[in-house]
Amino acid sequence: MAQVRLTDILDKVRSYHPDADVDLINRAYVYAARMHEGQTRKSGEPYFVHPVSVAGIIAELRLDTASICAALLHDVVEDTSVSQEEIAKAFGDEVAFLVDGVTKLGKINFASKEDRQAESFRKMLLAMARDIRVLLVKLADRLDNMRTLQHMKEDSRERIAQETLEIYAPLANRLGINWIKAELEDLALRWLHPEQFFALKEKVNKSEKERQKYITDVVRTLERIMAEHGFSAEIAGRPKHLYSIFRKMQKSQCEYEQVYDVIAFRIIVETTADCYAVLGVVHSRWTPIPGRFKDYVALPKPNMYQSLHTTVIGPKRERIEVQIRTKEMNSVAENGIAAHWKYKEQTGGLDAKDAERFHWLRQLVDFHRDMKDPTEFIESVKVDLFQDEVYVFTPKGEVRVFPRGATPIDFAYAIHSDVGAHCSGARVNGSIVPLKYQLHNGDTVEILTSTNQEPSKDWLDIAVTSRAKSKIRNHVRQEERDRSLELGRDMLERELHKRDVSLGRLQKTGGIDKILEKLKIRQSDELFALIGYGKLTATEVAEIVVPSAQPAPDELRPGLVERAVRKVSGKGDGGIRIGGLDDVLVRFGKCCNPLPGDEITGWITRGRGVTVHRRTCPRALEQDPERRIDVSWDGSTKINRPVTLKVLTSDRPGILANVSTAFTQNGVNIAEANCRSTDDGRACNLFTFTIGDLGKLRTVIRAVSKVAGVYSVDRV
Ligand code: MN
Repeated sequence: MAQVRLTDILDKVRSYHPDADVDLINRAYVYAARMHEGQTRKSGEPYFVHPVSVAGIIAELRLDTASICAALLHDVVEDTSVSQEEIAKAFGDEVAFLVDGVTKLGKINFASKEDRQAESFRKMLLAMARDIRVLLVKLADRLDNMRTLQHMKEDSRERIAQETLEIYAPLANRLGINWIKAELEDLALRWLHPEQFFALKEKVNKSEKERQKYITDVVRTLERIMAEHGFSAEIAGRPKHLYSIFRKMQKSQCEYEQVYDVIAFRIIVETTADCYAVLGVVHSRWTPIPGRFKDYVALPKPNMYQSLHTTVIGPKRERIEVQIRTKEMNSVAENGIAAHWKYKEQTGGLDAKDAERFHWLRQLVDFHRDMKDPTEFIESVKVDLFQDEVYVFTPKGEVRVFPRGATPIDFAYAIHSDVGAHCSGARVNGSIVPLKYQLHNGDTVEILTSTNQEPSKDWLDIAVTSRAKSKIRNHVRQEERDRSLELGRDMLERELHKRDVSLGRLQKTGGIDKILEKLKIRQSDELFALIGYGKLTATEVAEIVVPSAQPAPDELRPGLVERAVRKVSGKGDGGIRIGGLDDVLVRFGKCCNPLPGDEITGWITRGRGVTVHRRTCPRALEQDPERRIDVSWDGSTKINRPVTLKVLTSDRPGILANVSTAFTQNGVNIAEANCRSTDDGRACNLFTFTIGDLGKLRTVIRAVSKVAGVYSVDRV
């Protein structure tokens, strides 16, 4: 990379901003040069080369004078004895503010890897939400550091490259600055996977001549077609950057030679209407590949990117990607937020529309401000920032963006937490879908609610957004407490009943207060919860007021009416009917995991409600027969139960893929898989998933047994 000179920067700035305060830039240059005097980089060259290069990048982005100055001065506060106030005095508050922002990003001391990224990222977001120029200078700083990474210490190269790939390249992408994103990714690839990088580079270079000819041919053909149809269009073709080819090879597990659409052709036209007209021409000439057309013109990406994308079978029967956009869209695609930069010497900052587009960032900042643990933060940010998005519509036609894999539950919580909490189902494009349905681009989603519906633990596996997950988790916790409370009350009532005493009487006659006083508990609810959690037994509590050695006092005995209305049958939770008991916590034995359709029995367990086992379960046979209780499946409630299958297969490649296809084809989502080779050349695989009933399970077992190479399938 040739060294950037001050005159290059000034020429560049004057080209897009003729009235720029050149004097201020000059002074910043001289000032920074003096401050960094005597400092050298690891390469041996003067340190000052770095801030000048960063300023060069900022000029490439066509930013304002203050940003250029901030770039020149970005390391002086941290690396020299200059203070924030001195910068403000010499260059004004705006420049000082920007320098301070950039300095803060680089200043924090980091304990661990995760902490370091989380902290710096958090600060970055906070700074950015106040002024996006801080982030742009930081990006330029990172780009120059990546360009000169060979001069860094060997052990820190990988870390810096990894961080660039995880944090900075996606941020450049979010800001829509395509060229910085591509360059950062390629540079990171070079240090993270040098062998693959150089091999790929060589292959690309080798086929360079051939490819250039191919590009020229296709461009000429496209130009001819455009002219025939009377469009004035600029056409260019260029290979995609190495990292995107690398990703493509990884994703489809193929060799370079098999990656066809490594070249993207770009048609730049005058108007938006022309974009669609040209698309029609391209599609009528070459066959489009289904599912590859994307309309980012009507539905821009959150980073403001607009373009039509399509992949067609091109002139040589090879797949080519064609991007169609206007000049303005192209400038946004290359420079993103920087292209939208309005030069406002006085006010600075973004105009209202751009600020609105960065609403997502402010939301993230708000959402994470209270988080104590930076690791938790980085995890959430990774989820929110780095997954691909899906765009869906509300019934009113508003577009909402979600991470890929989002479900109606995420959608419901995004609308309102009450809608989320009572979400009982969803209609997508007019049809009812299960809650675990993964949203697709363009879906119109309508949430069905019911006042009886409540969030369940299973939803945690279905939701992907951090917002939905944390709301569900809170609810589940509260519900667990409520249930223990009810269970505790129930158990105490049963225990008292044995002693011919009713809980109602106990409450009326002050017996409960006596218990609370004795146990130093403030409220009866707390007492019940403690019994429900198993921290107190109902017996020891009952013993306080009605010692089992003596007959119960008359005033505590239940009245005749009370006895008569005591329910004789009830419906339990989780699709189980229980004779004689009302509102009881039901658990399923982990030992045998019963499924609807299995023959079952129930056992009353102290402190944990009723546990349901399969009738054949050895654990069930060990239980005290006195605690046995009749239970049956409640056909009216649909429940999903976990099941684990042990699948013994031959140990050859490809089998697992076939086995998992058999699962998917039967509508089963594998939640957990555990595969290991055995000594005799076989593979033992454990698959855990949820399923509705025994009949469905049998269908799945049959399908998996049929896969070639499968020896046996057994329920564990
Ligand atoms: Mn720097």
